[in-house]
Amino acid sequence: HVTKHFTASRGGRFGRRRPPVRAVEDVSLSLTAGRITAMVGESGCGKSTVARLLAQIYPPTSGRILLHGRPVGRSRDYRRQVQMVFQDPFASLNPFHKVHYHLARPLKLHGHARTAAEVDEQVAELLERVSLTPVDQFMHKLPHELSGGQRQRVAIARALAVRPVALIADEPVSMLDVSIRLGVLRLLEQLAREENLALLYITHDIASARYFADDILVMYAGQLIEQGSSEKVTDDPAHPYTRLLLSAAPDPDRVEEHSDETTDHGEPPSLISPPSGCRFHPRCPVAMPTCSTTVPTRAQVADAHWTNCHLYDQASVDA
Ligand code: SF4
Ligand code: MG
Repeated sequence: HVTKHFTASRGGRFGRRRPPVRAVEDVSLSLTAGRITAMVGESGCGKSTVARLLAQIYPPTSGRILLHGRPVGRSRDYRRQVQMVFQDPFASLNPFHKVHYHLARPLKLHGHARTAAEVDEQVAELLERVSLTPVDQFMHKLPHELSGGQRQRVAIARALAVRPVALIADEPVSMLDVSIRLGVLRLLEQLAREENLALLYITHDIASARYFADDILVMYAGQLIEQGSSEKVTDDPAHPYTRLLLSAAPDPDRVEEHSDETTDHGEPPSLISPPSGCRFHPRCPVAMPTCSTTVPTRAQVADAHWTNCHLYDQASVDA
């Protein structure tokens, strides 16, 4: 088994006529084949921007992305290897084309299937992998004949059609009916494990991250503020913001009943003029004088567990 690493560091500052939105700053992360990494944070924290940087939907202002340890340019081959699944399954499929078309197109485009028989065979195989069976029924359906969960499965199958090494799923179940969320997440989990995909699961829901991911990255106001194994981050959260997210999260054993409500503990800050020092200081219940003036650097809290918070400055010296 080969380990595949992606590193994205120093994300984008974008916006031309308006003041620059510092959507993502100094975010460094790596994904590993067969592992699930969750990126957690409120809406507007920069999660989707990181996803789009990784998928090269737009370029970083500075920084770089590595694939298998090598920096990647803006290449078609890289964009094939890193596929995205978006939040809205209703917007991601052309309503005038059948499921077969949506899957056949990438297969043909990337030369994985040439003859009509090859295409049909591979379309059927893709539908089976995402459990849309009987396949010969599903391939002839139009998007409007499918439920949201079924559409999301088609979107996942389409991503798989080009044989990616990594899948970035940006809130893949938050627009789906609560009763079918778990099934779609389990499918993604199964693909990561069985097909050795690196999966980045982006969510506002830390409880589902705890449930599915091996590692968790917590974003706040465009920055990574805590990262570590799922157990460490959720059982023993270091950053006050992570604690806030966890206290607002529903029972982890009832992942299928999550609502989309964000936390009720104040508003996330503007990314045009973010707060000085620690960006969380205006909302932090344990802020100290230094927090509003000095940006906290990354400190190791425990094995495979880091945070950016002045509470751990001493810990990092000791480590
Ligand atoms: Fe709170 Fe200060 Fe830590 Fe920021 S650095 S989370 S304000 S204690
Ligand atoms: Mg988003």
